[in-house]
Amino acid sequence: MRALALYTVKAAALCLLACAMAHAQQTPSLDDLNALIAEDSTPMPSFGQREILDIAGILAFLTLALISFFKKSKPLKYLTMVCAVGYMGFIKGNLVSLVHIFGLVEFSFPIFQYNVSWYILMIFTIASTVLWGRVYCGRICAFGAFTQLLDQIVPKRLRFELPRHIERRAIYVKYVLLASTIGYFSLTHDKFIYKYVEPFWMFTLNGTTVTWTLVALLLLTTVFIRNFYCRYLCPVGAALGLMSQLSVFRIKRWKQCNTCKLCQKACEWGAIQGPKIAVSECVRCDDCEILYSSETKCPHWLMINKKRLKQTLAKFSSAAT
Ligand code: SF4
Ligand code: SF4
Ligand code: SF4
Repeated sequence: MRALALYTVKAAALCLLACAMAHAQQTPSLDDLNALIAEDSTPMPSFGQREILDIAGILAFLTLALISFFKKSKPLKYLTMVCAVGYMGFIKGNLVSLVHIFGLVEFSFPIFQYNVSWYILMIFTIASTVLWGRVYCGRICAFGAFTQLLDQIVPKRLRFELPRHIERRAIYVKYVLLASTIGYFSLTHDKFIYKYVEPFWMFTLNGTTVTWTLVALLLLTTVFIRNFYCRYLCPVGAALGLMSQLSVFRIKRWKQCNTCKLCQKACEWGAIQGPKIAVSECVRCDDCEILYSSETKCPHWLMINKKRLKQTLAKFSSAAT
């Protein structure tokens, strides 16, 4: 951007020189213009190089996220989350945000040529949500990844789960926040409200005392109540939750899920209630899907294996007699 600004200033200077000379009824000689260009040692902004690196970075990261999602591999998932915090958070600092939702409301989008990686991220987010649900929340969002990683180091004894009847209502707070911030923006066109509603700016390390205090309180609450912001407050998560109602490929359930509570206990997002999975709350974290396909833990497979064993034993005993 700085190079672009310098280039623009130099170009404007050339025009001004030509205008000034024309005004003085002097035609600028080629030598004058050449001398000015020779003095200009600022390289032309290299959009191509910068853009290519940016596009390669986001494509590599999204590919890693997809591989970890399809492989259901825990180490790959944690690697993706570390990259989400480092690359998407601290290096790029460009997460899906309320600002983008405001942009949609205004139908205002960034210039494609300079924001290809942003478009890739948006298309990926929308497409993956429509296909599988909130994959963005489970892997791509730096804040979500940060709190999930935090989860791994916070001792379990500090955890506190909201009573179910409170939780059932608390999940709607994020929808209220989404609607009220969009309403506020529609009336005032003040985009900066986002700083008080979402903490993503923290990766830029650029906040005020008030906003840092709010983030500190939020992170402290997250220590005690897992994924607190994501589950109850995040307007972006709410928007993706609404979109995920359209999702095509949902997590399957077995008949045994009607009584088995293993997946419900394993879900850190409170998205499973009995046999049902609330798609708007599920972030496709893999935890229940790993159980779902585990032949040593899931009662569905245990029963199938038991039946198989019985049949084999029956065959052996009938062959022996
Ligand atoms: S709910 Fe919000 S903060 Fe959490 S992972 Fe999703 S977008 Fe990020
Ligand atoms: S462990 Fe198997 S049976 Fe139990 S809830 Fe999960 S998928 Fe269903
Ligand atoms: S455990 Fe299952 S239902 Fe819960 S968030 Fe993860 S993938 Fe979704």
